[in-house]
Amino acid sequence: AATVINALALGRQPRLVPVTLDRWQYDVTIGEDLLRHAAVLLSPVLPQKRVVVVTDSTVESLHLPHLLQGLAEGGIEARTIVVPPGEGSKTLAEYERVTGILLEMGVERGTTVIALGGGVVGDLAGFAAATTMRGLPFVQIPTTLLAQVDSSVGGKTGINTPFGKNLLGAFHQPLAVLADTATLATLPRREIRAGYAEIVKAGLIGDPTLFEWCEANGQAVLDGDADSQAEAVRRACAFKAAVVGDDEREERKSDGRALLNLGHTFGHALEAELGYDGRLLHGEAVSLGLRLAFVTSERMGLCDGADVARVTAHLERLGMPVHLRDLDQTFSAERLLAHMQRDKKMRDGRLSFVLVRGIGQAFTCRDVPDSLVREILLAEGC
Ligand code: NAD
Ligand code: MG
Repeated sequence: AATVINALALGRQPRLVPVTLDRWQYDVTIGEDLLRHAAVLLSPVLPQKRVVVVTDSTVESLHLPHLLQGLAEGGIEARTIVVPPGEGSKTLAEYERVTGILLEMGVERGTTVIALGGGVVGDLAGFAAATTMRGLPFVQIPTTLLAQVDSSVGGKTGINTPFGKNLLGAFHQPLAVLADTATLATLPRREIRAGYAEIVKAGLIGDPTLFEWCEANGQAVLDGDADSQAEAVRRACAFKAAVVGDDEREERKSDGRALLNLGHTFGHALEAELGYDGRLLHGEAVSLGLRLAFVTSERMGLCDGADVARVTAHLERLGMPVHLRDLDQTFSAERLLAHMQRDKKMRDGRLSFVLVRGIGQAFTCRDVPDSLVREILLAEGC
């Protein structure tokens, strides 16, 4: 791969993160203008020079032309399926439509499905690829910061059901992930910030040097500095790759992949309460949830108040929501608790939390009393 990349003559060398699983290995390639070099980057892994690109209508107009041009230059035949933007596309109806088009196009076992877009497109296209003809090859080209640092790596794909989010899905690992930081230039700042929360999360779980790096470089990432963005994506992907490599299918009862849910128990409850309609982005919920996980850890005597203050200060300085009062909403502690209890991570009727002993020292804990969670929420102004 290195010689291929040298041959690209890109201004700056792409960064590579290998993802090594039991029976699968792929690279996340991170750099600027990868879309236009897609044929060179993907040819070594594509079984056939035929692909179907799934994207949403926003990304279609902004970035699809570059990708199609890049594929055509390498003689790769590409067709396109466009879905509406937003979480509303992760439905059984849209899945049925997309897989119907794939079959109508006459895809073969070697035709690769490429997801070009954010986590919604990645999850939907990935699930379509995982299931169509029992599994088509799949490539992720994430175009949101959240998708570049989180959803495109690890192989989880899926759609939502009326019973909850991501309840129909499959593990389907990609052949390759291309994270083109140039695509982030068109992403609204609010979406950049939301994705940034997952980078901070990675540091807080198990990589204190990543959190320190964020303290020094987070502003540059949000301001669109391409090199800082690429480095942030590289560090977050390397962290996620290590966790996923160790627990590919989230089979470990404690720690392992479950740690990636730091901040998500509170976060999912806030999202569920606001109904996934754009009032609160996932990353914003995670930002709030990260601080609440630290507060909970401190209240349980597990972590130092200084760490809570440091995390809060960092998120606040970058304009991320950290207090419930930062949102234009009132919340009921009882309703939030009810959402947490319904969260699929609940096992044997007890809340499962990811807590911390400090920055970069997360662990799973099932002994958080409901009464403490209630108290913390009330203190937050619920
Ligand atoms: P998204 O895919 O909805 O993208 C957010 C918005 O940005 C959309 O309106 C999209 O059209 C637009 N957009 C995308 N790229 C753009 C660009 N370069 N410029 C301008 N606009 C652009 O949302 P997301 O935040 O990327 O992903 C959220 C989804 O990811 C959720 O459904 C979540 O469940 C899923 N997810 C999956 C995993 C996993 O492991 N599979 C992990 C985390 C999140
Ligand atoms: Mg998340």
